[in-house]
Amino acid sequence: MNFTTELRDIARNLWWTWQPDVISIFRDIDPVLWRQVNHNPVAFLSEISPETLEQRALELASESRISYIFYRLREYLEHGKSWVGIASSPLHANPVAYFSAEFGLHESIPIYSGGLGILAGDHLKSASDLGVPLIGIGLLYAQGYFNQYLNSSGWQEESYFETKIAHLPLECVLDATGKPRILFIETRSNRIAFRMWLAHVGRARLLLLDSDVQENSSYDRALVARLYGGDANVRIRQEMLLGIGGMRALSALGIKPSVLHLNEGHSTFAILEMARQEMVIDEIDFNEALYRVGHRTVFTTHTPVEAGHDRFDSALIEQMLGPMREAFRISPHEFMALGRINPDNENEHFCMTVLGLKTAQRSNGVSALHEKVTRRMWHALWKNRSENEVPIGHITNGVHVASWLSPPMHQFYDRCLGPEWESRMSLPETWTPIGSINDSELWEAIQIAKARMISYVHRQVYAQETRKDGASELLDITMKRLDPEILTVGFARRFTTYKRADLILYDDRMLERLITDANRPIQLIFSGKAHPKDDPAKKLIQRIYHMSRDSRFLCRIVFIEDYNINVARHLLQGIDLWLNTPRRPSEASGSSGMKAVFNGTLNCSVLDGWWAEAYNGHNGFAIGGGGQHSNPVVQDKRDAEDLYRVLEEEVIPLYYNRDASGIPRGWLTRIKGAIQSLAWRFNADRMVMEYAQKCYLPCVGFGQFPQENHVYRV
Ligand SMILES: *Cc1c(COP(=O)(O)O)cnc(C)c1O
Repeated sequence: MNFTTELRDIARNLWWTWQPDVISIFRDIDPVLWRQVNHNPVAFLSEISPETLEQRALELASESRISYIFYRLREYLEHGKSWVGIASSPLHANPVAYFSAEFGLHESIPIYSGGLGILAGDHLKSASDLGVPLIGIGLLYAQGYFNQYLNSSGWQEESYFETKIAHLPLECVLDATGKPRILFIETRSNRIAFRMWLAHVGRARLLLLDSDVQENSSYDRALVARLYGGDANVRIRQEMLLGIGGMRALSALGIKPSVLHLNEGHSTFAILEMARQEMVIDEIDFNEALYRVGHRTVFTTHTPVEAGHDRFDSALIEQMLGPMREAFRISPHEFMALGRINPDNENEHFCMTVLGLKTAQRSNGVSALHEKVTRRMWHALWKNRSENEVPIGHITNGVHVASWLSPPMHQFYDRCLGPEWESRMSLPETWTPIGSINDSELWEAIQIAKARMISYVHRQVYAQETRKDGASELLDITMKRLDPEILTVGFARRFTTYKRADLILYDDRMLERLITDANRPIQLIFSGKAHPKDDPAKKLIQRIYHMSRDSRFLCRIVFIEDYNINVARHLLQGIDLWLNTPRRPSEASGSSGMKAVFNGTLNCSVLDGWWAEAYNGHNGFAIGGGGQHSNPVVQDKRDAEDLYRVLEEEVIPLYYNRDASGIPRGWLTRIKGAIQSLAWRFNADRMVMEYAQKCYLPCVGFGQFPQENHVYRV
């Protein structure tokens, strides 16, 4: 086979997104084009001329590299190892259907907004690596989430771009005549038509749906234009498309899932559609069908924040789901009861999370602390039980390591952990050799990664500044000042009140002292988007923007625009200290700090989400003692004071305390402690194995006996 054909095949399986040697082939062929196409190999191959490709491959002698990668991909797909727990299970005939409103697989596929999507993407990748039979179901947003830039007054502006579907590695599902196969969902007022796309993520598949087809009105064509845009009407139709459409698409493709895994409440209508299908096929009534489906459903809830749980009023529910309710032969009141905490409260809206919690046999939060918070939050659903008996467990999130690891750290692990460490990463002993590694080798890997991160930040700042009107005189200074020798603190995540990006800005004078210290200064890199309707969060971004131009802080505070997977990866790979300051207990898990661990970055975090169970006193830094005050004003003040104390007394001395050869021994000891104590736990392989052992396999009658059933009946 010709190497260009091989390259095209490689580009069409998202396996490449976690193969550094594939990425380096594209980059080497044409680094400028690679960046221009946003690291999208399908776009890259369609933009580059065959002659140039041919010639560059020849110059670089990359033909054999490409052939070897092609061979490795085939091996992985056909003979890849499976995790033993799964090898002989019934899941092979009937896979797990994993529903999620977003999937964050790579920056070139903009169908994610943040942590929820990244988690779903990482879940798919690890399922592929482990050989867990799984198909993801999501939506193909025409524009995705917005792109952010700051105008010359530092105010966030949003722009939306149409994604070029031809540049995504998707195959449209066709009918016998070669036209896109169209399926429908009926509402009281019309039918929503939709089509199906398939992507390959290693051995896992991803099924994406969209409604931009000529059978639809222009209103419905635009239904999935944007992620988390639109009113309740758009929202419920998107969620019907995901849950109901997703189940219909699976049956159209002949896939009968043995397990439904619903990643957050957006997709819980899938339970209803599966019940409807079972009623028809097995000629059973609604209660029986719901009971059966509930036994095979795993529901993962993701947020203690009230606004994160979608609710729809009864008129909208009846208008949209009336036809389905009639098929169930139940009353509007009985239907609403599925989504109400108190079925008799006629004013209560239909809550997607309640539907999931009431019907799924297994429900879980995403960290140990989040389990507790979730039990308290939904206790009213199980009035006759104590809070401790509320049937919600937890499986703590993890990250897909190969997708987030810096190349220097990857090479470092290859050298020190022995062959195939990646397939053994969930075992504590895999990481033992870190304890006896030569400090200078680890320090060097981290410094190389840091230098790359800083040059990335310079590139971004340059691009941002030149885009603004009256391109600024600050430019030259910035380039000079961001200094690889300075302790670099990163804060990058969604800008939303509870995450408190401004905690470190709490006391201006204190911050100034830390930043401008003559001997042991710090520098700060911020990045993150505010929801388009969240003006307080936008004000916060603006404040940081102004500080980044304040002569006192000049160039020791940087804001990187348009936070996304690409920005996250670059920053996480080179930051010294990853800062996380949510108002406890609002952060269900958080996962960026896990990505930091693998890259030799230390976490400095409030004891919330994953960090509450991860911190052991010497594998990072903790802000606050895990306490909470009922008054947020008091809480913020306490946490800010403790943050400054931790920075001044613990972080800064440890970082700047060097031996004769300039190596911070204490800092490295802490990094090694972090890797040894955390790496084996907070990776997505461990997470997917835990879902398989505790949820997927019991659902198909393997392993643990099902827990006491709490499936709801109307
Ligand atoms: C990892 C990641 C997140 C989630 O991290 P948090 O710690 O929950 O903020 C969000 N956005 C992007 C782009 C990420 O890579």
